[in-house]
Amino acid sequence: MTHSPNDPILLSSSLHVDEARKAISDLVKDLLAEARNITSQSAIELVSLDQAINRILAEDLLSPIDVPSADNSAMDGYAFHGNCLGNSEDIVSLKVIGTAYAGKPFEGNIGAGECLKIMTGALMPNGCDTVIPQELTSTPSDASIEFKQSLLKPGENRRLRGEDLQNGKPAIEAGRLLRPSDLGLAASLGIATLKVHRKLKVAILSSGDELRTLGEALDAGSIYDSNRYSLTGLLNRLDLEIIDCGIVRDDPVSLKEAFCNAAKVADVLISSGGVSVGEADFTKQIMQDLGDVGFWKIAMRPGRPMAFGTLKPIAGQSSPHKTLFFGLPGNPVAVMVTFYQFVRAALLQLNGAAQTEPPLTQAISESAIRKKPDRTEFQRAILGRGKDGKPTVKLTGSQGAGILRSMSEANCFVILHHDQGNIAAGDWVDVALFDGLL
Ligand code: AMP
Ligand code: MG
Repeated sequence: MTHSPNDPILLSSSLHVDEARKAISDLVKDLLAEARNITSQSAIELVSLDQAINRILAEDLLSPIDVPSADNSAMDGYAFHGNCLGNSEDIVSLKVIGTAYAGKPFEGNIGAGECLKIMTGALMPNGCDTVIPQELTSTPSDASIEFKQSLLKPGENRRLRGEDLQNGKPAIEAGRLLRPSDLGLAASLGIATLKVHRKLKVAILSSGDELRTLGEALDAGSIYDSNRYSLTGLLNRLDLEIIDCGIVRDDPVSLKEAFCNAAKVADVLISSGGVSVGEADFTKQIMQDLGDVGFWKIAMRPGRPMAFGTLKPIAGQSSPHKTLFFGLPGNPVAVMVTFYQFVRAALLQLNGAAQTEPPLTQAISESAIRKKPDRTEFQRAILGRGKDGKPTVKLTGSQGAGILRSMSEANCFVILHHDQGNIAAGDWVDVALFDGLL
C-alpha cells in the first residue's frame, strides 16, 4: 500500500522509523514510475571506466568472453596429468621437460612420467590437468621432481575456462553502485565504457534567521551555517550533482522563492531547519501551497521532526518527475542522522540502485547505555577491539542533537532499536559504520 505523506497514520504523534522508511520508499517508487512514463534513454549515460566510480549501473553488463578464457595454472609449480596420483604415500617422480610462462604457453605435449614447470596464470599445456605447487616438491636434479602421491588430487590448482564468468551471462547486474572491483572486472572483460544512470540533481538549503555564511561576522545570537557543509560532504560520497541554494531567511516570500527555484531544477530538495514545532506552522502553510508534504514526528533520537513529500511541478521543470522534498531538522547531528536513516536510501533508490540499505554489524557495548523504549536511537560511537579480540563500541561524549563533535569523533552509530530498553555493559548492540556511508 502506498502512503501519501499526509496519510493519517503518518501524522500520528510518533511514527516508527520503519513506517517512515516504507512511506519514503513507496513514494520514490511512484516517482520512478512517473519518470519512466516521461523519459527513456535520456536518463542513461555512457561513461568511461575512470569516470564510473560510485555511479549506478543502468543495464546488466554481459560478459563478452569466458573468464578465464582457457584452463590455466593457479600456482607456481609443475603441471602434469593427474592419472598418476593415488591415495598412497608412494613417491611420484616426474621428468621436467620445459617451462610455461603467463603469456608464453608451452606448445608441445606432456607424456606419462613427464611434467612442465609452470607459472601462475600460464595456460595448462596439452595432456595436463593438475599442478603441484613448487613448495610441495623436492628436486633431486635440475631435470626432475618428486612428491608424495597423497599430497594432492587430480585437477587441483587448475583454473577452469569460464569458472569465473561465462560468455553472455551478467558479470555485473543493473542497479549496482559501482565500486573499484567492478571497474577492474569490466576492464578484465575488455569493456571500456559503462551505461550508468544520470547523476541526480540535489538542491540543498539551510533555513534560519540566525544562520550566517562563512566569512560573515557573527552578531549576538547568530551561528555559522554548518549543515550545508555536512550535507555537501554526505552528498559528495554519493556522486551527485549538488545545487547549493544557500541560506534562506525565515520569511514566507524568501522561502517560497527558494523552494520554487529548487523545484524547477532539482530531482530532490533537502532543506534543514524550520520544521520543529512552532516553526513548522509557518513552513506548513507554505508547503501546502507548494506541494504535498507531511510533517512527521518520528519516534527517533535525534531527528524527531521531519517534513517529507513532493513539490508541485513547476512550468519549465527539468526533472522527469516531481521534486522529492526532505525537510530535515536543524540540529547538526539530527541532519546527519536523518540523512543516513532516510535520505541516503531514497537517493539511491531514485537513482536506480538495487541495494539501498547500509550494512550493519554488531559489537559489545563497553558501558551501560540508557535507552527509552518506543523510539529508535542513533548514538555516536567508536568501534574498536577488546583484549579478547572481540569488537567493542564506546560512545563519544555528550550525545545532544546539536553536538557535532560527538559525530566528528565517532566512526559509527550504535543503533538502539524501537523496542530495545537500557543496554548493560557487555551487551551486544547493532552498529553501522560511517566509512563508505557518511
Ligand atoms: P530548527 O529546526 O530550525 O528549530 O533548528 C534547531 C537548531 O538547529 C537550532 O538551534 C538552530 O540554530 C540549529 N540550526 C538550524 N539550522 C542550522 C544550520 N544550517 N547550521 C547549524 N545549526 C543550525
Ligand atoms: Mg530555525
